[in-house]
Amino acid sequence: MGITWIPGAERLGGGDIGGEMDTPDEPPRIVWHTTESGAGDAEFDSTADYLIEIGAEPHVLYDPTTDRIGQFGPLDESARALRNDGGDRTNRTGAVCIQVEVLARASEPFTGYWQPGPNFAALLDAARSWGVPDAWPAGDLAADDSDSTSRDSDTWHSEGGHYGHANVPGNDHWDPGAIDRSAILAAGSGDAPYPSTTGTGTADDESDASSGTDAAEVSLAKVVAAAGSDPDAAQGATTHRDDVLVVERALQAEGLLSGDWVDGSFGTRTQYAYAEWQSRCGYEGDDADGVPGRTTLEKLGAEHGFRVGD
Ligand SMILES: [Zn+2]
Repeated sequence: MGITWIPGAERLGGGDIGGEMDTPDEPPRIVWHTTESGAGDAEFDSTADYLIEIGAEPHVLYDPTTDRIGQFGPLDESARALRNDGGDRTNRTGAVCIQVEVLARASEPFTGYWQPGPNFAALLDAARSWGVPDAWPAGDLAADDSDSTSRDSDTWHSEGGHYGHANVPGNDHWDPGAIDRSAILAAGSGDAPYPSTTGTGTADDESDASSGTDAAEVSLAKVVAAAGSDPDAAQGATTHRDDVLVVERALQAEGLLSGDWVDGSFGTRTQYAYAEWQSRCGYEGDDADGVPGRTTLEKLGAEHGFRVGD
């Protein structure tokens, strides 16, 4: 018996989405999907509601930009995100058929920009607790919607491991796109660096983040310049997009900024969020005006895996 409810996952819906597996003696598997949407808390909430409304719940909803995770039903019962292969109920194949919808688009592989953290590790731990092997038995994923991928029914039934929706017989979707298959497996291991630690990681993770070898560097001068000019510019205008994005993702991970505003523009919403961060750091008045200073930016970086340069 493995993990049925992932520790730390929010419960979504009524918790009752499926039933017993049809072929519990066949090997365990996990299937990756993308929601074909943006990420962030607002998308997370509306997508969860939508999946419940149309009765197409996976087991898990995951935000690759914030490491937020939610779960609709127990892992040892079926979910509803797959189409049947004729009379063959793909949702009910195997000892478990864990389905994960990632808030992302197949055309922009999420492993290119994601921030996997402790919740992603908990998801993979749960899959491994059912004996899902670290393998992709169907091979390649689709790089675009005209890419043909293996959807071999014999492989599906006889081999456990990780599958894309693009690898499931009887289905015609090409999600999750050409994600990095080894990165998925590595991100769940104990020694993966978590770019976005939320303070709940292990001591090992924190030492990775503070060693700084892989950490992004944010220029204080550029962020301050963006905070000075973006609010008065056109909506969404950017001056130092890359640096600002790193700061915005950290503010989002702190729960201070909605994903809708993680756009590389240091606009008014980002200023408000940064001002909140400054007050969390103990500043008030003019010192919490939403324009970053070195002390608060370094503190944010120490918690979210970036260094602060000049
Ligand atoms: Zn799918």
